[in-house]
Amino acid sequence: MGSSEAEVPAGGGEALPLEGVPAPTWGGSPSRLTTFLDCPRRYRLVYLDRPRPERRAQRAHTAVGVTIHNALRDWWDLSVVDRTPSAGARLVREGWSDVGFLDLDQSARHRSAAMRWVADYLAGVDPHVEPLGVERSVAFVDRTRTLRMFGRIDRLDDRDGELVVVDYKTGRTPPGEDEARTSLPLALYAAAVWKMFRRRCVAVELHHVPSGTVVRHEHTDDSLARKVAQAGQIATDAGRADADHARTGSESAMFEPNPSPLCRWCDVRAHCPEGQAVGPEHPDWAGLPDLDEADNPA
Ligand code: SF4
Repeated sequence: MGSSEAEVPAGGGEALPLEGVPAPTWGGSPSRLTTFLDCPRRYRLVYLDRPRPERRAQRAHTAVGVTIHNALRDWWDLSVVDRTPSAGARLVREGWSDVGFLDLDQSARHRSAAMRWVADYLAGVDPHVEPLGVERSVAFVDRTRTLRMFGRIDRLDDRDGELVVVDYKTGRTPPGEDEARTSLPLALYAAAVWKMFRRRCVAVELHHVPSGTVVRHEHTDDSLARKVAQAGQIATDAGRADADHARTGSESAMFEPNPSPLCRWCDVRAHCPEGQAVGPEHPDWAGLPDLDEADNPA
């Protein structure tokens, strides 16, 4: 399929709720959409039920991820001469939170590691080349008007005319080769950029800050359109479920639990007996990455 600057990626959404009746437009972030796909029960508990069910306290690895994302955002607000790797490390130190750690010693070791990861990562970033966007808000309506997507991109690069969606990762393990290719959120962000900037955008990258691993994928126009179509179909199902919840509340039968090992991490499992049956909850610090010897003095 050819492309031009005026074209935008096609949207799908073949499944309509009722023949002759337009599908309701569903709006939300890619993470809301994937939450519905992964576990409708969790979707209901997090996004629909009111009063809002209480969620568990933030885990340590989540706090680390937030701090690193904030540091990599704020680094671009510094003057060009101040954008040094050590300035990135300082931003991590200043934004650090001890929430979720076993104790202050564990927190300090992970703070030191996170400062080093960010400094190492930024050593490979040219401070003179401004991204097109940092934590850039984007929005997108697919061709069938089934899906209204809005969200925020960690970084949007313009590399000699090529637009690249960059997503920072901070988890225990580097992303695999397939993750950038299969990621629905990344594809939707690329489609949104294409539409908003009226410039073709098909390149997506995952940057794993702790390891410096970069995983890249270039969509074709067709593969991007297929992702948008997939999102439209999920949005159609989520819209139906939303409508049923509006009628019947939390008694709705459209939010089946999807028990899996991930239930041991779920922050609403206190409201989900099926998820609790999977096994005991992981401790707050269990998602932290393993540290190098340098950060783990004997
Ligand atoms: S505990 Fe598991 S099944 Fe229950 S809401 Fe969370 S992810 Fe879904």
